[in-house]
Amino acid sequence: MSRFWSQIVHQLTPYTPGEQPQIENLIKLNTNENPYGPSPKVVEAISNANNEALRKYPDPNAKQLKRTIALYYDLAPENVFVGNSSDEVLAHIFRGLLKHAKPLLFPDITYSFYPVYCNLFDIEYQQIPLQQNFCLNLDDYSEDNGGIIFANPNAPTGLAVQPEEIAKLLDRNRDSMVVIDEAYVDFSQVSVVGLLHRYPNLLVTQTLSKSRSLAGLRVGLALGHPDLIDALERIKNSFHPYALDSLALAGAEASFEDDDYFKVTCQKVIRTRERTSDALEQLGFEVLPSDANFVFAKHPSKDASVLFNLLREKGIVVRYFATPRLKDFLRISIGTESEMNSLLAELERLLA
Ligand SMILES: *Cc1c(COP(=O)(O)O)cnc(C)c1O
Repeated sequence: MSRFWSQIVHQLTPYTPGEQPQIENLIKLNTNENPYGPSPKVVEAISNANNEALRKYPDPNAKQLKRTIALYYDLAPENVFVGNSSDEVLAHIFRGLLKHAKPLLFPDITYSFYPVYCNLFDIEYQQIPLQQNFCLNLDDYSEDNGGIIFANPNAPTGLAVQPEEIAKLLDRNRDSMVVIDEAYVDFSQVSVVGLLHRYPNLLVTQTLSKSRSLAGLRVGLALGHPDLIDALERIKNSFHPYALDSLALAGAEASFEDDDYFKVTCQKVIRTRERTSDALEQLGFEVLPSDANFVFAKHPSKDASVLFNLLREKGIVVRYFATPRLKDFLRISIGTESEMNSLLAELERLLA
């Protein structure tokens, strides 16, 4: 603490990211990174952009990337916003589209960055408890609000709401924004991008960090009505006009252009997720049905925090949340087949 701090700094409760331990041979299953590298074409595109042209500023409007993404989703470039990570895109959304007189609504259990942004941007919010089984019941979102946001599939549960349910929510909630954070959607079939043309108050965010194996490149996007995108552009151009650097632009474009590699790696992760869920159940775990690249699991007789620490001693890092509703669970990111074999073997030993 220092007398030089602005008033706001005293009031912040920053987000705590999953740790990035610098330990060799670690099996890292704690931050939902993709175990497979990005497409070789992405690596090549970034290498090709790594040259003398770096002396120039990148295109502040990311025109080419927006065109590529629009084409990919059968939208217009005016429907696309890109930013330096989806966390940054979400920051612009909170500030530019979710701060209103009425409270913003989101689940008590969802991406834990949302209350952090509310705190930072002084946005009034109300957390709606998930059902006992961690399902999100959209009938609980019927009161007057200044906006609604949740992750679908949700984090850290992995549970998803079907697009038809979200359409019903949009039908009865026409006077405020509905933001769907689709960080994990490529591991599922629940995207609402197809609903965008029907609802001018729907905004979808996605990230290249998980399904496209590019957490280190920091690229995120939002899709929605041009008026919503315009709000985000106005915020961005008042804050960080060159949000995406030249290497990120090149890599992100190449990622959307190599759809085969993308689909194959997503399928591999999904297959490993299903096998891991079954194997964990064999070990006695209760595993929530996951639509994401992680599973959320609880053992009836072994304390989750104890398991977390024992695994860590063996060089396997998963995520543990010491909060009342989550403290019995471990969130385990899906790694390679061999990483999951090591995890399962270790758990079998620990539970024996
Ligand atoms: C990982 C994640 C993000 C952030 O993604 P970045 O683009 O890496 O900032 C946003 N929302 C949810 C739900 C996530 O899990």
